[in-house]
Amino acid sequence: MIHLGTQYYRPPFPNDRYWEEDIQHMAESGLNTIQLWVVWAWVEAKPSTYRFDDYDRLVAIAERNGLEVVLSTIAAIHPYWIHREVPGSEMVDNFGHKVISSNRGECHYGLTPGGCIDHPGVWDRMRDFLTSVVTRYRDAPNLMGWDAWNELRWNVQADGLVCYCPYTLNRFRHWLDAKYGGLDGLNAAWQRRYQAWDEVRPGKAPDRPYTEMMAFEDFITWRSVQHAYDRYDHMKALDPDHPITVHGGQPTVLHGSDRYPIATALHRGNDWDFAENIDGVGCSSFPLWGGSEMDRAEFVNRIDFVASARSGKRLWLSELQGGRSNIGFDVAQSVDPESQQRWVWTGLSAGADSILFWCWRDEVFGRESTGFGLAGKDGLADARLAAMRRTGDVLAKYGDLLENYEPDDAEVGVFFSPQSYYLYWAQEGAAQKPLAGIKGYTRALVRQTVPYRIVEENHLDQLEGLKLLILPRTVVMDDEVAEVLAAFVRGGGKLFCESEVGSFGSNGLYRYPEDRFFAELTGVEEVGRRMLEVDRVRFDWEGRRYELPAHQWQTPMVWRGGATETQHLLTSAEVGAGEILFCGTYLGDAYFARGANEGFETFVMDLVKSAGVALPVRVVAPQAHSTTFTHVRVGRSGDHTLIFVFASSPEERVELAFPAGRLDNNVVDLLSDHEISVIGGDEGEARAVLGPTDWGISILKG
Ligand SMILES: [Zn+2]
Repeated sequence: MIHLGTQYYRPPFPNDRYWEEDIQHMAESGLNTIQLWVVWAWVEAKPSTYRFDDYDRLVAIAERNGLEVVLSTIAAIHPYWIHREVPGSEMVDNFGHKVISSNRGECHYGLTPGGCIDHPGVWDRMRDFLTSVVTRYRDAPNLMGWDAWNELRWNVQADGLVCYCPYTLNRFRHWLDAKYGGLDGLNAAWQRRYQAWDEVRPGKAPDRPYTEMMAFEDFITWRSVQHAYDRYDHMKALDPDHPITVHGGQPTVLHGSDRYPIATALHRGNDWDFAENIDGVGCSSFPLWGGSEMDRAEFVNRIDFVASARSGKRLWLSELQGGRSNIGFDVAQSVDPESQQRWVWTGLSAGADSILFWCWRDEVFGRESTGFGLAGKDGLADARLAAMRRTGDVLAKYGDLLENYEPDDAEVGVFFSPQSYYLYWAQEGAAQKPLAGIKGYTRALVRQTVPYRIVEENHLDQLEGLKLLILPRTVVMDDEVAEVLAAFVRGGGKLFCESEVGSFGSNGLYRYPEDRFFAELTGVEEVGRRMLEVDRVRFDWEGRRYELPAHQWQTPMVWRGGATETQHLLTSAEVGAGEILFCGTYLGDAYFARGANEGFETFVMDLVKSAGVALPVRVVAPQAHSTTFTHVRVGRSGDHTLIFVFASSPEERVELAFPAGRLDNNVVDLLSDHEISVIGGDEGEARAVLGPTDWGISILKG
């Protein structure tokens, strides 16, 4: 079953006088699931006294209306008594100040950030709260599952970098001890002469030597992962029967935007690590958030980023925008049903099995008041709910087909290096540059209908099946990672590297060009950083001339033993059955920043073709223009091919071509139940023409 539902209760709102009518209205609108925030501060307002009367009633009303329930355990909103009952549990910021907690901007009752999870007294209390919730509801007949950690929040409103309390510092040093096998190992890796662990300090702020800062960032990411595991393990032991997931405010990759002094890069953990142990991953998405609206490609990329990490586990779009965003006194555009249905079906096309909106009613407190309601007063609620009813009917009719659907495997990978994020953050206080590099390449791929996945540097089993791996701004690379990438190339893979790949180790130390792994492997060396005279570069590759947007600098390359006056901005080296391409500048983020193609997408497509990547579909018409493109995703469900097509407008007609053998009969559009002719296909390409459609969406079953 595909779950289509909405967040409803963030206590004490909506007040109980609305409950019966609202929940009945949800069921009538095609929703089958309701989510409730179970807030620690609210449930355990008095230590060891748990009150669940409101949740009991909501779960019962949901059951009467045929809705399943997701319980979101909000353990990051601490009771007001936490520091009284657990003295000395305050977080400490990077200036040594105790963090004063307060009410959360978007939660009416409770303390944030509260106590430090590294204080054993805080974790004991949190665990007792989780026990009380899970034992209360694990046998509820309509319990669907648990969202164990909402948006991975732990340091919200700390108003500085955290945590530097004695418990966290102790844990940091233990983590280093285990990682380096003792102080001698650490001294060897960092080239230091520390005599005792208390001399080893966490990084304090950006723009100091990178070593300690990168280590502390890495530790903070690990610590968030461990906290997710702690919550999961505890809850799973009490309730082995229901899925337990966690979800980020955004996918891990996008946490390159975390900035000093609010938080370190990737401070909320890592989706790839979560997916190793936890039943699923997910993210929130507010595509029409006032002031930072996402365009279509950006939204697809966002979903791809989190879907790349799930490795067979569940994918939940845990907070999808319900109604108009509202922050303070800024009003944003209303949410139209067409856009909203595109988000829903984009999520399903990426393999999501649960879509949960934020939220049902407009909010009533603080800066979010008047905003976000699926059934809220932005003028389009009736149209949105009518569209939802239609999608709900399709999900009910084709539930099995969609539940068993899996998107086709990609043959193109885009590399995500947390260590490179840490280094950029350690210098600039944010990892915007490597993030923009990833966004650039993935945007071009999505606009050109090339399936891809993000490959995270510690999960290189995901290289399996890839033909091309693009490494945007991967300035940090340890030899263990380089060895695996070299094996991928020897086996026939192609790497595309941007300037200064592997120019630093994860110890934060710079490597001269001749000392880098790939220079040893290929004989290609950079001569050093040179100014970009204009913001474009020109080079030849495989008989074609390219002139492309570029950023930051150029690092021309020479061949070892070759003439030093022969310098290249793009060169390639064969390694085994494969090839490494080196580009001596940054193309991806330059393309992303300009918001214009300028030949970059052609270059990316030439890379894809030269790697022999097989594409599951080709958009014959219309071609991608500067702001429009057709998004198509192809996958399988049992013996069926499923094709999700998103035109740039409902009026548009889209012509698609499929490789021979993929489609041999006509297809049916699940949204309209219309049969669509497929021409050819036995030997040559099969072609189909779609549209116009009601929402610009077709879901084809072949
Ligand atoms: Zn702490």
